[in-house]
Amino acid sequence: MQNVSSTKGNHLCITSLMKNRNSITKLNAMKTNVCSICKKEIVPPPNNCGTGFGVTKDAAIVCYSCCGEQDKKQLLETGIFRGYYSKGCFSNWPGSFKVNVYSSKQSYHNFCGRNGRTDFWFTLEGQNFHGVHIGSNNDCATVKRVKK
Ligand SMILES: [Zn+2]
Repeated sequence: MQNVSSTKGNHLCITSLMKNRNSITKLNAMKTNVCSICKKEIVPPPNNCGTGFGVTKDAAIVCYSCCGEQDKKQLLETGIFRGYYSKGCFSNWPGSFKVNVYSSKQSYHNFCGRNGRTDFWFTLEGQNFHGVHIGSNNDCATVKRVKK
């Protein structure tokens, strides 16, 4: 008797899960994403690479170009930012904020070996920044404001 009721319970559970999944999929398909800053509708990139938006800590949706604005503001206000360094360019995660690096220097790093560390410098709106990038790929880099 116990066996029968538990099987029945499982069955019900799976059915309701599947129903929920269907309604969630429908909801997502109907919903258009609107940037919480510029209020523009967000169109995902045509190649289906990425969503076309980022999500902030408070779960607000922000389009890539506003992301760039926010990231630039954060860098200028806080003087510290984590982004990516690649080929003489420092950028944020979607690449909507980019600065050209005017000087860089490679050196030995304990873990990454010869030329494993790259120091780089750039200026932005009159402020000077110094960044450190470890490793050879398009990895994270941290930049900090410095006095000239
Ligand atoms: Zn926006």
